[in-house]
Amino acid sequence: MPTYVYRCATCDDDFELDRPMSQSSEPTACPSGHTKTMRKLTAFTSMSNNGTTPLKAAPSGGMPCGGSCACH
Ligand SMILES: [Zn+2]
Repeated sequence: MPTYVYRCATCDDDFELDRPMSQSSEPTACPSGHTKTMRKLTAFTSMSNNGTTPLKAAPSGGMPCGGSCACH
């Protein structure tokens, strides 16, 4: 199941959520229960280039995967 990154407008913080791709655009609540969230775009396309092309830094300054995998 893919991991998606969401941002809570109330906490002004990011959180990750494992959910089916078909539900990736569905509204969700942050860990604190706020519903004012939006999904952040993640660089899943970078996974298909076999690592030969340097990854562009994510807008947040973190890794595209959110640091939850060994892609870096
Ligand atoms: Zn929140």
